[in-house]
Amino acid sequence: MKILITLAAVALALNCAYAEQKIPEGSQLVIPASEMQAVKGSDKVFTGDVTVQQLSEPLPGMAAGSGMVTFQPGSRSFWHTHPIGQVLIILKGEGRSGVYGEKVSVLKKGDLVVCPKGVKHFHGAAPDQKMVQMTITGTLPDGQNVEWMEPVTDEQYNNIK
Ligand code: MN
Repeated sequence: MKILITLAAVALALNCAYAEQKIPEGSQLVIPASEMQAVKGSDKVFTGDVTVQQLSEPLPGMAAGSGMVTFQPGSRSFWHTHPIGQVLIILKGEGRSGVYGEKVSVLKKGDLVVCPKGVKHFHGAAPDQKMVQMTITGTLPDGQNVEWMEPVTDEQYNNIK
């Protein structure tokens, strides 16, 4: 787990350096969709087929990062918490999100999920539909923004409200 968090911090540091190098002095940076890298979500923190695109490369002093995550039907994150918190916006499809020990919510396009720091939760697609979400995640000064835990079982995933 510490390795993952360290890798995330290294990636964040590299991205900060990237942004600093690329932004024209006194101006802003536009990154075309074609240049945004999409990576397959690790099977150490996701169940099923998940694709992650990091959208914002946090600027120096900017305490949040964002990403676009595509979950194929039935896929979902492992249980996890965020040290500052996270906001999710559902962009496409139908999703699921649940808090540990509670029933799971169904998410539709345009829905917002506001998750405070330390709340153990997961997010993913519906069993029969994909889901695309935008994430806005608070980031600590050392780059940490998530603590991963165990997989979400089928029984937990299917425990709908
Ligand atoms: Mn989350």
